[in-house]
Amino acid sequence: MKIGILGFQGSIEEHEATLHSLEIETYRVKTKEDLNVIDGLILPGGESTHMLMAMKFNGLYDALKEKINSNLPIFATCAGVVLLSRSIENSEQESIGVLDAVVSRNGYGPQYFSFIEEVKIEGFKKEFRAVFIRAPIVRSVGTQVKVLARDKMGNPIFIKQNHIFGLTFHPELTKDDRLHKLFIETIH
Ligand code: GLN
Repeated sequence: MKIGILGFQGSIEEHEATLHSLEIETYRVKTKEDLNVIDGLILPGGESTHMLMAMKFNGLYDALKEKINSNLPIFATCAGVVLLSRSIENSEQESIGVLDAVVSRNGYGPQYFSFIEEVKIEGFKKEFRAVFIRAPIVRSVGTQVKVLARDKMGNPIFIKQNHIFGLTFHPELTKDDRLHKLFIETIH
């Protein structure tokens, strides 16, 4: 199995390190051809504006949309959720639209308001230490989207729509690899 990581900027090395520790091969995806050699794709946290521009520039954007629509498993974190959402309520920024959720970019405020919260995730016995860095807030989700975790205010922070995982926090910044494992297990 080979897992791609959108390779322009953001938490690339951290996801690679987690997957390598699970003995999973990784591949940095930068072109539409790269999509043909992977079994699943991580959209890392970082800057969605930058990733969007890079993908638009070389045609990866349309190719990725097509691949997701034909069931490529996706693990989107933070900026990745912004990229996939149906709409962004506080920005004109375009989004791929495959994840039926409305988000607010930097919903908790600027960098200064980044925080860590121990959260309960459906199906996990122990809480998960969730790191939020200029995270989006998910304002609403469609009926086919499952909410698997919420923050203390009740906002969805882990959503799943069939083969698309959406996390507004950064699981790659902790030693806890349970969410990566969960993603990998759905691909087997
Ligand atoms: N605020 C960033 C964006 O909208 C996301 C931040 C992150 O991925 N940690 O692109």
